[in-house]
Amino acid sequence: MGRLAYVNGRFVPHPQARVHVEDRGYQFADGVYEVVPVANGRLVDEELHLDRLDRSLAELRIGWPMSRAALRLVSHELIRRNGLANGIVYVQVTRGVAPRDHKFPKGVKPALVMTTKQLKRASPAVLAQGLKVVTVPDIRWQRRDIKSISLLPNCLAKQQAFEAGATEAWMVEPGGYVTEGSSTNAWIVTGEGKVVTRKANHEILNGITRQVLLKVMAEEGIVLDERPFSVEEAYKAREAFLTSSSNFVMPVTEIDGRPIGNGHPGLVTQRLRRSYLATFGLDEEAA
Ligand code: PLP
Repeated sequence: MGRLAYVNGRFVPHPQARVHVEDRGYQFADGVYEVVPVANGRLVDEELHLDRLDRSLAELRIGWPMSRAALRLVSHELIRRNGLANGIVYVQVTRGVAPRDHKFPKGVKPALVMTTKQLKRASPAVLAQGLKVVTVPDIRWQRRDIKSISLLPNCLAKQQAFEAGATEAWMVEPGGYVTEGSSTNAWIVTGEGKVVTRKANHEILNGITRQVLLKVMAEEGIVLDERPFSVEEAYKAREAFLTSSSNFVMPVTEIDGRPIGNGHPGLVTQRLRRSYLATFGLDEEAA
């Protein structure tokens, strides 16, 4: 049996998974999503992702398509049926299907789609080399804290990175400060060994990886400086890295063609990756 998707109450073969043309997600990007990592067949930080889904839905006044407990069951069932060991579960909730009209429709049930995707773990070669990043202007709306499916500026940024031979784009606000990556949070380590990332407000998505890493850092006594950093400061940083549910903690060794630090993944970054993976029992070196 091939891969299944879950679409509005039914498990369907992935190639045949469809939504209606008047789904408001399709027409208006009127919906939200979550990407939950799966490691060794288990969801990582599932409750934190469901909390963020709850918040995103509430901010847009979209109801839950089913109870939280039911959604949990469906995602576990999808992982089981798809035999997913390592990868992600994608959850998308839109306001529902209604005749096209900008204002909210009345009495419409939110639409739910869930899929899984298998992902390879980062190879030792990639981890040893680190990623290249380019900077681009941040042209997004002002509620980046909502995990909205409206991702066109993020797609344009990622494509620009790809065309420049990089993996990620760090988006920069008009004052010259980095907000975040197109699908990741952005971090640097200063010459004094302080870890810098900006505060989670309306200007960035509060990454779950970010939230968990902040706890890890507090436990390990690593000094955090929660503030914006400029592109210039990033060029001169000792280390840089990014975080997300599909990358975990990934070293960044080049920004706009300039090597960061000595051009190799830094010690703080490597330590944070190990400690973050240990929060869900993953030991890369042992794997
Ligand atoms: N920032 C943006 C814009 C994102 O799209 C994502 C993830 O998709 C993140 C940050 C990282 O969030 P998380 O750690 O929850 O995956």
